[in-house]
Amino acid sequence: MKYCSSCGSTVEFRVPKGDTLPRHVCPNCGAVHYQNPKIVVGALPEWEGRVLLCRRAIEPRHGMWTLPAGFMENEETTAEGAARETLEEACARIDVGPMYTLIDVPYISQVHIIYRARLLDLDFRPGEESLEVALFDEADIPWEQIAFRTIALTLRHYFADRRSGNWAFHTASIDTPPPGYVLPGQPPHG
Ligand code: ZN
Repeated sequence: MKYCSSCGSTVEFRVPKGDTLPRHVCPNCGAVHYQNPKIVVGALPEWEGRVLLCRRAIEPRHGMWTLPAGFMENEETTAEGAARETLEEACARIDVGPMYTLIDVPYISQVHIIYRARLLDLDFRPGEESLEVALFDEADIPWEQIAFRTIALTLRHYFADRRSGNWAFHTASIDTPPPGYVLPGQPPHG
């Protein structure tokens, strides 16, 4: 952040009085611009043993498969966000079930929350951000082409729980970037 979003002055990056971490502080109007983690919400929609996946039409990971998920909006619940993302990306209506995975991704300051869900009908098609939307049996999941590790982990838990019959809420933390990942603001390694 360079300029104050309240008054347009150039901000300073310093520890405000009584705080412990440096923040973007406006010397003109006194606003402290906190930056906090973002929450990604999504769904794992099921239909007669198959799972709905979307092939991404946008970066990052264009052309790869994922569960419908995206950034939570203000003034919605995580479950509402999961249903909204499913409608936006797959034009699919779901009955949102229990929260299923909560995965911290601290190196990019994100938390990913995925709900189990029941697809209400087969009237789905790719939304703006998807190239393709399809139902997959476990044997057909394109494991090498899953866009995000949080989604792959969620799918692995899902099929394991389904086999064992022991459904659980799963938490995890993915602490290191995948190979080749460039952290925001860092130059790529040669
Ligand atoms: Zn200001």
